[in-house]
Amino acid sequence: MTASMGTTKVGFVGIGNMGRPMAANQIAGGWQLTVYDVDREKADAFAVEHGCGSAHSLAELGERSDVVVLMLPDGRIVRNVALGDSAGSDCLVRGLQAGTTIVDMSSSAPVGTRALGEDLRTFGVALLDAPVSGGMKGAIAAKLSIMVGGDRALADQLDPLLATMGKRFHIGPLGSGHAVKVLNNYVSAAGLAAAAEALLVAQRFGVDGEVLIDVLNASTGRNNSTENKFKQYVLNNAYDSGFALELMVKDLKLAMDVADACEVPATLGHACLQLWEDARAWNGPNADHTEFARFVTESAASASPAKASR
Ligand code: NAD
Repeated sequence: MTASMGTTKVGFVGIGNMGRPMAANQIAGGWQLTVYDVDREKADAFAVEHGCGSAHSLAELGERSDVVVLMLPDGRIVRNVALGDSAGSDCLVRGLQAGTTIVDMSSSAPVGTRALGEDLRTFGVALLDAPVSGGMKGAIAAKLSIMVGGDRALADQLDPLLATMGKRFHIGPLGSGHAVKVLNNYVSAAGLAAAAEALLVAQRFGVDGEVLIDVLNASTGRNNSTENKFKQYVLNNAYDSGFALELMVKDLKLAMDVADACEVPATLGHACLQLWEDARAWNGPNADHTEFARFVTESAASASPAKASR
């Protein structure tokens, strides 16, 4: 049966940078939502602002939902939210009925997603993975790329709900959406890293940073970061894209785990992961991912200060 906004009750867990606009777009599309976040103030404030329900436990959210959408930091948290982390702990399966579905839109570990699907099946609960690309901007504009993995018929049933958030691509079996998502972020992270290094070289050679970015964007070196991040978040020192550096490192690590599992050496990918881990150590735990460029500049300045100040 196709999910319909009149009758299907939707739960949403994770009212963060991405979850907030995604849940808001579901409500704007006419769906009945109940939200939950471990930070109760966030969920309650969202419910007041958007006129939807707010649950005070995962079990309560499960009881009130036919479909639960998750937008959480990582697959470990997703697993704990779905199944609990210890006997008797609060979790969705304590409330969900058999025949309901969880849609994990977080960027989770692909292999863990397959295991979670098996475990949820014993409760009669189905799982789809549907991670997204497009950042907060894409989430607000309902223009995310949504990479759906899992049973095709179930994905089709939930398509009207997913359509409120962006464009859907059915990738393949459970976990394949998560695999494609982290590979996308590997390519994105490598593009940002290459542009950050090129920017520093150009500046030291006496080229204005804005000019470099303009030329890249009109030439074959352009990528999503040169087009949508360098002027917007780096050159103006704003560093507030809304996607944490920590989350990019997580995605790169997951992409390399998939590469290792598939016995692909991915030499560039492993070097890229190492660089991003260095950037995390340099910038600290709360950095925005665009601060990778700050790491490139500042670590080079401390390695060769004379050149940096020339
Ligand atoms: P975020 O940290 O802003 O939001 C995560 C939310 O989950 C927070 O509100 C947090 O309180 C909540 N949460 C954490 N643990 C919880 C738990 N146990 N129970 C209930 N709620 C819990 O993160 P985000 O930027 O919204 O990213 C969410 C996911 O989307 C991540 O997997 C990320 O990799 C992915 N993603 C982010 C972006 C982006 O641009 N920010 C883009 C694409 C994908």
